[in-house]
Amino acid sequence: SWWASAIYSFLLVIVMLYIVRYYQRRSFARKQYQIELEKEVSIRTSELQEANEQLLHASITDQLTGLHNRRYLADVIEQHIEDINLLFSQAILDERMDDGAGPRLMALMFDLDGFKPINDNYGHDAGDKVIVQVGALLKNECRDHDIVIRWGGDEYMVVAIVEDLDEAKAFAERVRHSISSHAFDVGLSNKFNLSSSLGFALYPFSHFAPHSITWDQVHLLADHALYKSKAAGRNTWTGIVQSDKELPFSVLNSLVPMVDKAIEQQDIRLVMREQRK
Ligand code: GH3
Ligand code: MG
Repeated sequence: SWWASAIYSFLLVIVMLYIVRYYQRRSFARKQYQIELEKEVSIRTSELQEANEQLLHASITDQLTGLHNRRYLADVIEQHIEDINLLFSQAILDERMDDGAGPRLMALMFDLDGFKPINDNYGHDAGDKVIVQVGALLKNECRDHDIVIRWGGDEYMVVAIVEDLDEAKAFAERVRHSISSHAFDVGLSNKFNLSSSLGFALYPFSHFAPHSITWDQVHLLADHALYKSKAAGRNTWTGIVQSDKELPFSVLNSLVPMVDKAIEQQDIRLVMREQRK
């Protein structure tokens, strides 16, 4: 009968509407879930990114001073060597060279004099405060693009671009002076003074053969120069640099172990603070 058909049709429409509504709701819920999931994933990803950045930062930073550490230098030095090699080659082409000129990477090492007694007399915390203050003084003397490192213990390193030997000497003197003229405050009734001994060498080492001495060898020469400063009575700086003659082949091959002999033979030369007087 017509009314039965009408009821069935009506019921069918209701059922179909119900089904459509059900699928609409399901799809909406899925979309919401998807959005929530994407939000969650993006939060987790940025948290992970932040944690990675913190981890990376911690792995290249000295915890006590906030300066960079050795690992940072290892990560970036290749690029600095490439850049300076280019600048240096250009300076050679422009004939802007003599035995001290040319843009070079300065490896400056320094170590505090008589630091151990601070620990022994006033305690390790006082020693830590000194190490932090030296880090701040050093940062203050450096430009933004210089690499400033706590090498370990009471030893620090700076890698800076210098235009010539005079700039390197002036920089070493500035660092020496900033430490020796600082009154260290570690919370005691009296402030005290400390000095430091510095050593530096330049890369490329020689404009006669710019690629003959590696950065690692230059670094060792800077270390050697530091110990020359200690031996000379401390509170001073020493540089080991090229002389005005070409390095003989025999010296090139064994510069670091033969450094004292090479200085004696004037194949390379020492520049010291006292010599400027
Ligand atoms: P020199 O003049 O020959 O350099 O002698 P020094 O007394 O400065 O002693 P040296 O450089 O040989 O030794 C450094 C000392 O620094 C040895 C170690 O006990 C101490 N030290 C190393 N790391 C830390 C640190 O993180 N905090 C503190 N407080 N002391 C440290
Ligand atoms: Mg020391």
